[in-house]
Amino acid sequence: MMRQYELVERVRRYNPQADEDLLNRAYVYAMQAHGQQKRASGDPYFSHPLEVAAILTDLKLDDATIVAAVLHDTIEDTASTREEIDHLFGHEIGALVDGLTKLKKLDLVSKKAEQGENFRKLMLAVADDVRVLLVKLADRLHNMRTLHHVPPAKRARIAEETLDIYAPLAGRMGMQGMRDELEDLAFRHLLPDAYGMIVSRLEDLRKRNGAIILEIERELASRLAERGIEAEVKGRQKNPYSVWRKMERKSIAFEQLSDIFGFRVLVAASEDCYRVLGVVHTTWPMVPGRFKDYISTPKQNDYRSIHTTVVGPGRQRVELQIRSHDMHEIAEYGIAAHALYKDGRASDVSSLSSESQAYMWLRRTVEMFAERDTPEELLENTKLELFHDQVFCFTPKGSLIALPRGATPIDFAYAVHTNVGNSAVGAKVNGTVAPLLSELQNGDEVEIIRAEGQTPPAAWEGLVATGKARAAIRRATREAVRAQYAGLGKQIVQRAFERAGKPFSEDRIVAALPRLARGAVEDVFAAVGRGEMFSGDVVKSVHPDFKEERKAGPALPKNESGWFGLRKAASLVFRVPGLAAKDEASADMSIPIRGLRGDLPVRFAPNGGAVPGDRIVGILTPGEGITIYPIQSPALTAFDDQPERWLDVRWDIDETKRELYPAQIVVTALNEPGALGVIATTIGEAQGNIDNVAFRESSPDFREITIDLEVWDLQHLTTILSQLRARSVVHKVERVNG
Ligand code: MN
Repeated sequence: MMRQYELVERVRRYNPQADEDLLNRAYVYAMQAHGQQKRASGDPYFSHPLEVAAILTDLKLDDATIVAAVLHDTIEDTASTREEIDHLFGHEIGALVDGLTKLKKLDLVSKKAEQGENFRKLMLAVADDVRVLLVKLADRLHNMRTLHHVPPAKRARIAEETLDIYAPLAGRMGMQGMRDELEDLAFRHLLPDAYGMIVSRLEDLRKRNGAIILEIERELASRLAERGIEAEVKGRQKNPYSVWRKMERKSIAFEQLSDIFGFRVLVAASEDCYRVLGVVHTTWPMVPGRFKDYISTPKQNDYRSIHTTVVGPGRQRVELQIRSHDMHEIAEYGIAAHALYKDGRASDVSSLSSESQAYMWLRRTVEMFAERDTPEELLENTKLELFHDQVFCFTPKGSLIALPRGATPIDFAYAVHTNVGNSAVGAKVNGTVAPLLSELQNGDEVEIIRAEGQTPPAAWEGLVATGKARAAIRRATREAVRAQYAGLGKQIVQRAFERAGKPFSEDRIVAALPRLARGAVEDVFAAVGRGEMFSGDVVKSVHPDFKEERKAGPALPKNESGWFGLRKAASLVFRVPGLAAKDEASADMSIPIRGLRGDLPVRFAPNGGAVPGDRIVGILTPGEGITIYPIQSPALTAFDDQPERWLDVRWDIDETKRELYPAQIVVTALNEPGALGVIATTIGEAQGNIDNVAFRESSPDFREITIDLEVWDLQHLTTILSQLRARSVVHKVERVNG
């Protein structure tokens, strides 16, 4: 196990200014925290974070990253807390360790290959700092290097996850060296036979072609020297996993692979790359279609290099990569390359959190590998702040669902399936019952509790974050409304048949559908319910001889109970949500009807309205909706001959939420100064609201004052009326519609 002084030495080698005390304290703290814990190999657990830190010293990372690596498993696996780390090592390191703890929790979740991309995004969103990802990758690399100690059953899962998640992540971050090693380790565990076969063949090939390789290397070096180009030429072999992948992808045998051997030419400056290219192409014939210039057009992860293939000595195909040392560093270390302490000093990059040229690159790279098509705002410090407009949640089976920030379990339910959304009645988030409208967080596991035969409340439409949920709720609501209209229409039609003295039969209406220009009985009922078709016309379509005697409709009112001589046409219950606006339009406010989910327009009759306590009736207006009148309203006589338009409605007052309702009164008062003041005071003392006042001189001595009021209910209105009557300036008070 690495000694304390060895860790300090490793860091000091590239950063003489390293905080020795900090490193020492971290070493001792983590050692004590992990105590007697053991790894699967039987080694002390503490050896693991030390090895992770060592990997990161190879990448020459800053003190905070190295310390975070040493501490990376303390919060999750020991008694340590975030507060303690913050207190002992400062907030920056505390935040890094915290990020690693969050990522570790994600390990418990199954990661399927098809959701690898989303999982990487989730990691980025959770990590929040690029250094957290660097430690995480080093952590995974060490775990992969020691995978043979882990029980075989667990091995395959970890290796697969490495191929699906971590190796591509390293690649996206431009860390080719890390990627190659992760891939080869995973490959070796997943397909040991294939791995062994490829390794031994590569070895054979190297032995057989050793002479040619040396020859090419020498020839290339001397040609370059002739032109005065200083270059480093290295033969290289593809790693086993990439050979395997190529064989798989192209379905070819090992022998058919042409480019297993390659050379890398490293030069000082990028101009030199093109000079090398000139030498190569004038020495050997190039293979058409294999030339790529990633210097003028870098890859997404900022990889830059020239690639070409030539037919070399012995007609051997030779692949060449030509790049500068700087380009090579980026190709190998990617993001980490820019945290390097060059030439033993920190140059202008004291840490990843400082702004610099290199750091600009880092941000650009992170952005690019993260989300190609959305140009995000520049990142703050090392904060990734990627996908801050997204959250990633899991189903109980481990499928990853990406949602916009602010999404609720309802959005989640609809993202899984429309039927799941429509039948959602509750949710469990991380095993605990949570409101359907709570905001989801990254990594939440969401289970939707369902009940069949549900319709989503229309109000959800305004509360969800995804378009999919919104559209589905609207659709479901519309269907429910249509069903309600149809149910209502059916009752109206049944009554119309009854009144006409004809037997009601759906079958006979089916036969009459062409005459009604509708495709289904349901459509006929819905049209009647919506007020687009008269029930009398339906009767007529079945009984052409039927003559509606509209004039002789039932007289109004009343029967014993004081209710109309109508049978209950429909049992609508409506609720008034308070006054929308205090202008003309307020007479047109829409009143949601319970069960109809708000799509049926309902309004109060103009002039006077109705207040709780009034007996009320709804009048259906074709194509418009329902207007609510107090039953004493004189305006109702206009509908006497259209009984099918009368609807039985009732108040549904929520006693706990007292709301104000519109009413109109006409006060005849003495035409003298101060009269209006007395009236206003009286209404105010009785806690009525005056909305609007209009005057009319009815005679030299009297004025007629029309007052729009807001009152709680009929009793409240009656109280106001009687108190006004008690005033000496008031001659007469009447309720409009009274
Ligand atoms: Mn670890």
